[in-house]
Amino acid sequence: MNKKIWLSSPHLTGEEQKYVKEAFDTNWVAPLGPNVNGFEDEICTYTSAKSCSVLSSGTAAIHLALILLGIEENDEVICSSFTFSATVNPIRYQKAIPIFIESEKDTWNMRPKILEKAIKDRIANHKKPKAILIVHLYGMPSKMDEIMAISKKYSIPVIEDAAEAIGATYKNKAMGTFGKLGVFSFNGNKIITTSSGGALISNDPEYCEKATFLATQARDDAPHYQHSQIGYNYRMSNILAGIGRGQLEVLNDRIEARRKNYNFYKKEFSKINKISFVEEPEGFYSNRWLTTILTDSFETREKIRLALEKENIESRPLWKPMHLQPIFNEFPAYIDGTSDDLFQRGLCLPSGSNLSLNDLKKIATVIKSLF
Ligand SMILES: *Cc1c(COP(=O)(O)O)cnc(C)c1O
Repeated sequence: MNKKIWLSSPHLTGEEQKYVKEAFDTNWVAPLGPNVNGFEDEICTYTSAKSCSVLSSGTAAIHLALILLGIEENDEVICSSFTFSATVNPIRYQKAIPIFIESEKDTWNMRPKILEKAIKDRIANHKKPKAILIVHLYGMPSKMDEIMAISKKYSIPVIEDAAEAIGATYKNKAMGTFGKLGVFSFNGNKIITTSSGGALISNDPEYCEKATFLATQARDDAPHYQHSQIGYNYRMSNILAGIGRGQLEVLNDRIEARRKNYNFYKKEFSKINKISFVEEPEGFYSNRWLTTILTDSFETREKIRLALEKENIESRPLWKPMHLQPIFNEFPAYIDGTSDDLFQRGLCLPSGSNLSLNDLKKIATVIKSLF
């Protein structure tokens, strides 16, 4: 069997070990310590966010963001339908109601027009949504001018699920810094990783202070253990934050490598009219976490996927929209078929920053031989 080519595998430099060793040497092997604080400061510097709380996962960060905005049982939270389930699950942890919104064709992210239509419709139903949870899918920024204008017009705060989009920018501003709160993930398949982990960022330091408080069991200020709120065990450990510090140092290199993958595929398939790519609109800078292609039909997509699988090359259909998921399909959805169609025809190609030119050439050869 050929060596497996993965969709997106961890890419460590070795420098991470310097920070991890420091943690061992100083016995800071806990969910606090100098790497935790250092990683938070460095994320703030990188994104220009005013504050950061590093956490056990991106999912935990989304959960805390919802809690910080006061989302409770039966509140409505507007949410992108075309995403990974981890965006939506925390809405249900709070027993709130997700209201799914369709994608638009340029970026595949939440369509502003439908967002506004849904808000009007919900308000007419005597219930104003409490938050808008948008996703920058596959590292592509959403249409932020339009979305923030709607957020302002209706006074509904935005949470950005930038789990896939760290380092991406919209008009030179970092994703995650537009809304009240932004979320990153450092899971093993993301563009940089702490093996598992996440972060919450905000320009309002009170949010991140509160997030850290809730993430460490909500301990009141007292010599004994005193609690007046429900707490969580959601803090990132000092060991993992050490890995994160090493990874953040090379984030820009990782983005460059992933963008190169995208350009490679695009050039290789330029003569195949059954394959197309998502372009960056003017002012959008994607980190190209995954290179995605759109084919002309479900059959073509499957043909490519199965041919790659035969060569031990991992590829994957695009996210199955949340309004089609058995666990979420009872909730209101404002859709027009766009994301259903993307799901049918789209495929994620191997996109790791550690792919060799040989790997890439092999993938291209397998695909080109089908046309
Ligand atoms: C990975 C991911 C998450 C969850 O992050 P974890 O760190 O794995 O909990 C949330 N939303 C999106 C869009 C993701 O891709």
